This record gives sequence, structure tokens and C-alpha cells, in this order.
Amino acid sequence: MSTILENAHTIIKASANRLGIDQHTLEQLLAPDLVAHVRLPVKLADGTTKTFDGYRAQHSNIRGPYKGGLRFHPSVSAEEVTGLATLMSIKNAVVDIPMGGGKGGISVDPKKLSVNELEALSRQFARKLAPIIGPERDVPAPDVNTNAEIIDWMLHEYEEHTNTSAPATFTGKSISKGGSKGREDATGRGGVIVSEQIVNSLGLKKPSVIIQGAGNVGAWYGKVANDLGWKVTAISDSSATVRNERGLDMNEIMKFKANKGRLKDFTDAETLSSQALIGMEADILVLGALENAITNENADSVKARLIVEMANGPITDEAYKKLVANNTVIIPDVLANAGGVVVSYFEWLQNRLGENWSHKDVKEKLTKQLLSATTAVQEYAKKQNISLKDAAFDLAIKRLTD
Ligand code: NAD
Repeated sequence: MSTILENAHTIIKASANRLGIDQHTLEQLLAPDLVAHVRLPVKLADGTTKTFDGYRAQHSNIRGPYKGGLRFHPSVSAEEVTGLATLMSIKNAVVDIPMGGGKGGISVDPKKLSVNELEALSRQFARKLAPIIGPERDVPAPDVNTNAEIIDWMLHEYEEHTNTSAPATFTGKSISKGGSKGREDATGRGGVIVSEQIVNSLGLKKPSVIIQGAGNVGAWYGKVANDLGWKVTAISDSSATVRNERGLDMNEIMKFKANKGRLKDFTDAETLSSQALIGMEADILVLGALENAITNENADSVKARLIVEMANGPITDEAYKKLVANNTVIIPDVLANAGGVVVSYFEWLQNRLGENWSHKDVKEKLTKQLLSATTAVQEYAKKQNISLKDAAFDLAIKRLTD
């Protein structure tokens, strides 16, 4: 299976080809501006010192400061963060925010560290990144296995180290440290905002929804969909799928998950295997868990009319072709899951303006930004007779090369 970077390059090359972009411009589009590799020695509780590898890829700042998350995961490498940073440039351009693309992280399994060790590692990373980040330069955020607490440590260390007060250096902070209201639900909510417009254009009324993944993204998608009167008939996590054809109460599911529950122990609905979800009957299939969730093997089992890519890259290339040939409409990840980065941008903006927006304001601004992006993608796709994904990439690449 190809890597995230190879995948990103394949899609960008296809788009450049459709747009007639010259070789020199294409090469600029593919190459990151900078990929930094830092060594992070940390003293562990047992007295030994272990050195971790940290990375930050800055892909493009043509449209504004680099922006993208920091993940703590054993798979993190220079190549992985470069691929993800490239996709951030595309995503930020699709939703038309004045930010470029960045991504970074540390190759580490954070579950193997104590809280003190994790804090020491995060602070060390902030010091090493200090010369290349900042509100005008590169604005990191949380990502896989990182959260507001880690970002708060990093901001504190950055400010001490640089002798500045610069909360706009990071987003995803806790509210008391300058974080934005509405960040927690932003990605799931954004997915529903985009979906609603596509659902209307497909003429679907009160669609039924099935959701792979009951974490932050999947659960919030389900809750906001419930609030619109859409019926969520099934949701899965890595342990099981729970199903109720009359509709699940997402408040109940969220409460259950908040207590670290595994869906296989949820007793108020029928329980099936985790894999059973993909082939279930529903109008909308939401992919909110992992990459490569739909492959050549299970693509034919999909019955949904609309798929929403909330995870990054949840459908392999081969499966994508099969689904499109079957007239399945797919809302691409770079549009569907962009709500999180839009609210991150709002946080940066509030910090810089010295403002503090209400949750209602954030929701309204998010809706406006995403609906305008969705309309542009839909119209372009229709005009060029191409998929929503190709349209999203073409629009982004036009904006990055204009
Ligand atoms: P999370 O860790 O909160 O939740 C992930 C969920 O997926 C968990 O419920 C887990 O049990 C479930 N899962 C794992 N393997 C599964 C399987 N085989 N079948 C069914 N469920 C499975 O993560 P999240 O923040 O909700 O992110 C989900 C995805 O969305 C990730 O791919 C992430 O990169 C992407 N994403 C997240 C955000 C954000 O703001 N959180 C933004 C953009 C993209």
C-alpha cells in the first residue's frame, strides 16, 4: 500500500495535469519548504536518558503561516509528516483560510511514558521547535495522541524560552489559556454542515446515518446529526457495532463512551462485530475512525448513497474508483473534516485580535466558511463534470499556484 506522501503526490499530479500546470510549478507544489528533524533527550523516571526523534514539516506558506497538528505516535517519520503537511496546504486552501500547511510530531508511544516524562518530552520539543514556529510563521495544534494539556505545556515552554507572550503560537489550548469555544465539536459539526448541503442537493430527506468510529469526530457527527432530526441507526468502535433501526440516542452513546466504555458492552442496542458496519443499509456512511477503512475487499458491500470521509484517507484508491463507478457520492476528507482547522484558525484570530467569541458566534462563522467552500466545490465539480474530491483538489491547487 502506498504511503500518505505518495498518495498526496499522486492526487496532486493528477490535478496539475487537469489544470495544465507546468513542470516547474508542479515541482514547487510537491516539495516542502522545510522538514526539521530534532533529537529530544529525556530523563526517564528510572534515571536513564532516552532520546526521541521529533519532526516538523512546513509544506507551503504561500497563503499564510504554516498550520497543522503535532502527533505523538510510533509511526511518525519525516516522510509521514511531509505527506500530512502537504495535505494540510490543500485542506486550508479548500476551505479558503489564510493559512499554509504544516504537520509534525514525535516518534513515541505516549502510553509508555508517565505524565512527568510526557511533559518533559513536550517541553523539550517546544524548545527545539522555537526557532521555526510562531504566530506569523508556523502555528501547531493537537493531533493524534496530543491534547490541550500538552499544547498548554508547549506554549508555556515556548513563551519562557523566547521571553514573549504569544498565545497565537499554538492552537488547541485549553479555554483558560486562550483556546476557542467550539473546538471540541468543530470537526464533527463541520462534517454535518457540509453533509447537509450535499444531502439537500441529492434530494435526500431526513437521511439515516451509520458511523464508523465513536471517538471525538464520529460521536460529535452523530450528535449534531441527531439534533437535525437525522436518524443514526448504527455506530462502531474498535470493539463492536451497535445498531437500532429506530435510531440511537447519541447523548446516551456519548455518555457511555465518556466513561471509557467499549461499545461491545453497550446493552441498549443490538451488538454486532466492528466490521459489520460498512455493509449496513443507510443513506449516509460516515468514516470517522482510520485510514484505509474501505479497500478493494469491502468496497462492493457498501450500500450507502453518500460517504463522508471524516478520517484522513479512509478509502483506498482502488476502492474509490469502484465506489464512484457505482454512483456513490463521496465527500472528500479535505472538505468534510476541515471544521477542526477552521476553528483552529478562529482561535489564532481571536488571540491576535484580543477577542473571545461565544460558542454561538463560532458555530455561525464555521457554518458560513464551510458552506461557502462546499458551494464552490460543488459548482466546480458540476461545471467540470468531475468528482467532489477532484474538484476540491483542483480548486486548492489553483489557489496555491495563482
Ligand atoms: P479518536 O481517537 O477520538 O476516535 C477514534 C475512534 O475510532 C475510536 O472510537 C476507536 O475505537 C474507533 N476505531 C478504531 N479502529 C476502529 C475500527 N477498526 N472500526 C471501528 N472503529 C474503530 O479520534 P478522532 O479525533 O475522533 O479522529 C478520528 C479520525 O478523524 C482520525 O483519522 C483523525 O486523524 C481524523 N481527524 C480528526 C480531527 C479532529 O479534530 N479530531 C480532525 C481531522 C481529522
